[in-house]
Amino acid sequence: MIRALAALSAVLCSVVATGAPLAVEQVAPGNYVHYGSHEERSPENLGDNANIGFIVGERCVAVIDTGGSLPLGRALRAAVRRVTPLPVCYVIITHVHPDHLFGTAAFRDDEPQLIGHAELPSALAARGRFYLNTLERDLGASARGSEIVVPQVLVQDRLRLDLGGRMVEVRAWPVAHTDNDLTVFDESTATLWLGDLLFLQHTPVVDGSIVGFLDVLDDLAKIPAKTFVAGHGRSMLPWPQALEAQRHYLQIIVQQTRQALRDGLTIEAAVDAVGIEEASNWINFDLYHRRNVTNAYTELEWED
Ligand SMILES: [Zn+2]
Repeated sequence: MIRALAALSAVLCSVVATGAPLAVEQVAPGNYVHYGSHEERSPENLGDNANIGFIVGERCVAVIDTGGSLPLGRALRAAVRRVTPLPVCYVIITHVHPDHLFGTAAFRDDEPQLIGHAELPSALAARGRFYLNTLERDLGASARGSEIVVPQVLVQDRLRLDLGGRMVEVRAWPVAHTDNDLTVFDESTATLWLGDLLFLQHTPVVDGSIVGFLDVLDDLAKIPAKTFVAGHGRSMLPWPQALEAQRHYLQIIVQQTRQALRDGLTIEAAVDAVGIEEASNWINFDLYHRRNVTNAYTELEWED
């Protein structure tokens, strides 16, 4: 399954490079998803690493994340155009990570409302320059034109958008994957777009709070979704069981890190030991797991 997805994404990447529309799947009526690759970012894949897509109403279109570079954003826009001539009225950025937002400038001519979490502008101010520098390092000339675009419409709690005959709810979450995570819920099909509040196959990443992440998973599980879109990967499991592998992974880190702290382990010793048995369950484990444990250790060492 994983090998098949990798082969598929290799084909999609070559499509991206020619400027053709991104391949999208209609996962529920009016909800179109492009599944990103689990490979590391490269000039070949143009940062095509996150799941991105769009929802089509009777009046206009909401884009959900724009991909890891300007060429990818353009290919997503071409995919929208292949489905509908309706205008793109909203571009929703689920969070600050570069694989989700560097295609935003491709939608400038559409003059959409750009929507983000209330904490997104400060996250972009803190990290935007660094993310742009590393994008240029990794993609070279293909990074040209990718830029940080700061959203004007900020969500503190919930915001309902009318796409015409279709209401979509944008919801801001407390600190979890990051401190600026949004989900999008298409009410007419009960389709939940999770951004990186859900990782499938790909090692979950904790860049906010691991305790907060587990709390948010409890609340996400209560949403009556029929269809769901993770930020990375895909699953045949039904909702909300699809959350369980990630929940298990995060719980193991919390439990074992607390034990390591009780046992007086140094951070280096904890990083070498905590959660290692999860390695075979996740893609890119070596790239992300140790950083997750490092973050968990620094978060949990201040607990009572
Ligand atoms: Zn992320």
